[in-house]
Formats: sequence, structure tokens, C-alpha cells
Amino acid sequence: MIVGDIDRAVEHLRRGMTVVIPTETVYGLGADAANPTAVRRIFAIKGRPVSHPLIVHLESSGRLESWAEKIPPIAARLAERFWPGPLTLVLPRRPGVLTEVTGGQSTVAVRVPDHPVALSLLKAFGGGIAAPSANRFGHLSPTSSRDVYEEFGESAGMILEGGPCSFGVESTIVGFQENVPVILRPGAISSGTLEAFLGMRVLRSDSKDSSLRVPGSSLSHYAPETPLEVLPEEELGQRTLYLAARSRRVGILCRTVRPERFDREGLTPFSMPGDADGYARVLYAVLHFFDRAGVERILVEAPPRTAEWEAVNDRLGRAALLRIGKEYPEPSREESLR
Ligand code: AMP
Ligand code: MG
Repeated sequence: MIVGDIDRAVEHLRRGMTVVIPTETVYGLGADAANPTAVRRIFAIKGRPVSHPLIVHLESSGRLESWAEKIPPIAARLAERFWPGPLTLVLPRRPGVLTEVTGGQSTVAVRVPDHPVALSLLKAFGGGIAAPSANRFGHLSPTSSRDVYEEFGESAGMILEGGPCSFGVESTIVGFQENVPVILRPGAISSGTLEAFLGMRVLRSDSKDSSLRVPGSSLSHYAPETPLEVLPEEELGQRTLYLAARSRRVGILCRTVRPERFDREGLTPFSMPGDADGYARVLYAVLHFFDRAGVERILVEAPPRTAEWEAVNDRLGRAALLRIGKEYPEPSREESLR
């Protein structure tokens, strides 16, 4: 693994190469946001469709004017309160912002990350760094440098080590419809936190009142290799026994259910944190672990449906949707309960 320091990373960025950057959300695959060849490299390495726009990372909100214009007052308040931090704002772009970055849209997504290594790099580099999560398109996001290295080997370029990510789930993305904030992707900052701060309702882009849509937010994002099912607590035991009887190796994410219930060959229960932030912090790491351990199925005890769990539920929903019933047809429900 090519582990580098800030000076070398700046040199790489100036030469149009990619650098893996630790942030408080997940590790990013960064490149100079003003260099079209460098930005295209990100898409090639990730296998990401070019229509999916990237988030531009800035050193401070003082740099915002170089990238965005006609900034709604609410956006300025959010930036003031939550930056540096896991909040991405989608704003009208300045004319010069690259099409490669915006996916051809009239808006640009920007944020100031809250991580000492990312901030040192941004400060030393001076410009904006476009960075999506450092994983192949559709895969789990990396929350450690090891995750990145296992995904890409040397092909992601230099990796800056920054320890495990403190949030472990992607940033909350907020756009604006007139002057109303709209959550385009739930993330590390909950809608409740945003509403409490703004003193107003915040829309969701999947609600009927929103006309904003999220480019490239395919349902099959954020997925482990292993098929995953989310089940209510009362169905978890039965489903586990069903799979175990067919000698499947099963990983289980317990929340309230005691892991001792699954003390049996072939079953790997994991006791998840009871709070939403703690759960989000370790979620990708646990899913990565199960992928590497070679279990054949991951069962997840469904978290509560409250606002603070929305980012976790969003990611679990996407992870679960992908393959069940498609590539891995399941027996009918009646059959599985017999
Ligand atoms: P990632 O960097 O992998 O977390 O993905 C970034 C996400 O930000 C994309 O999937 C888009 O959904 C969203 N995004 C980036 N730019 C824009 C934009 N201009 N408008 C709406 N969403 C955006
Ligand atoms: Mg991503």
C-alpha cells in the first residue's frame, strides 16, 4: 500500500493523480476538482457512470463562492452551523465548474469535511477536491484504509491514513427547492437535527412535495457481496433456523435479540450498538467483515423506523434490495416458515 504524507499527496493532486482521503464519514477517492482528466480518472477507477455527480470538498466555507452562486440564506446558515461536518449542500454552480464534476447539472455538491488529515490536505492544496467514496461502483463504502486497499490494491493511488471513520456513514445531502431544504440522501446528520436547528420542516426528495431528484442514487447502492435480509425481531430466530437447517453460513446483526440465542455451528451473531450513531459507525465494517468471512447470508434485525435511524434504514434497505428474489430466488414465505 502506498501510504503518503500531505506534501506528496498535494504533488499527486497537482499532477492530476488520485489520492485516497480519510474523512469523518467514509474514505474518499479524491482528485483535483478543476482538472477534467483527473476527475475522469476517478470515474474510471470506480467504474462509476459519468452521469453521477461528485461532491467537491473545500477547506472552509470561505471557498464556497468559487464553486457556487445564488446561495440561499438557509444554505449559508447550514454551512455556518454544520461545517466542517457531514453535511453536503447542493447549490447552483458557478459557470466554470466542470461538467465532469456536476454530471452536466446546473448544481454542484459541496462540503467541508471534519477530519484533520482531509483538512490539512485541502489547506495545503488550496483548491477543491472532488471525491466520491473510495469503492467500486455499487459496493460498500470504506471506513478504514484497509477497506480501500482490499477493494483497489495499488490502483486507487496514494492512500492517506486517517484511522477509522468517526461517523462511518455518508454525509447527509441537502438541496433547495425555492427556499425549502430537501434531503437528497439521508446521512450522518438526521432530518430531526436539521429541523431543530432551522425551526422548519425539511422535505425528503422521495416525498411527493419534492421536485428535486438525486442523479445516480440507484437503489442498489451500498451493498455487501453477500445477500442481506432485514427482518423484524420476531422473525429473526425462525429465519435463522430455516437457513441453518439448510447448512447455510449465516451472519446476524442483532440489536435487541441476544446473540447467545444463535450459539450454533455456522451462525455468527454480532451484537450491534443500541444507538443509531453507534450502529452507523460500525455498520459497513461489520458488513465488510461478513463479506470477507464468506458467510452466505446476512440477516439483520430491523432497527426502529424513527428519524434518527433514517440513514441506517436507508443503507440497509438498499443493501437488501439488490439480490434477494432476483439472483438468489427464495422459497415462498409459507415454505420458509414450515
Ligand atoms: P458519493 O460521493 O459516492 O457519496 O456520491 C455522491 C452523491 O452526491 C451522488 O450519488 C449524488 O447523488 C449526489 N450529488 C452530487 N452532486 C449532486 C448534484 N449536483 N445534485 C444532486 N445530487 C448530487
Ligand atoms: Mg459512494
